[in-house]
Amino acid sequence: MPLPRNRSRSVKRMPTRTPNGKNVEHYKSKRPGRLGCRICGAVLGGVKNSRRASASEKTPTRIFAGQLCAGCASEVIKMKSRIRIGEMRAEEASHAQREFIKMLK
Ligand SMILES: [Zn+2]
Repeated sequence: MPLPRNRSRSVKRMPTRTPNGKNVEHYKSKRPGRLGCRICGAVLGGVKNSRRASASEKTPTRIFAGQLCAGCASEVIKMKSRIRIGEMRAEEASHAQREFIKMLK
C-alpha cells in the first residue's frame, strides 16, 4: 500500500523498472517547481507556476524571460554585440551562454 501522501491524485505514478528487473512505482508531484536561470541557476522573479494563471501572466515579456535572470540576459546581450564588432570571439563565451547568443539576431 502506498504511503498516505502518495495516495493523493495530485501525485503522479511513474512505473519504473529498477536495475535488478523489478517493476515498481515511483511517485512524482504534478506541480511544477520554481524555475531557475539556465546559466547560473538563480530562482527567476516574476514567473508564476500556477496552473490557474494564464500564459501571459506566467512570464514577463522581456527577452529570455522565463529562461535567464536579468544579470545573465544582459551579459549575453553584451557578449553578442562584442562578438559582432570583433572585440570578442564566440569561443570565449561558456557553452550555456553560446546557446543564447545564437538565438539573438
Ligand atoms: Zn543567471
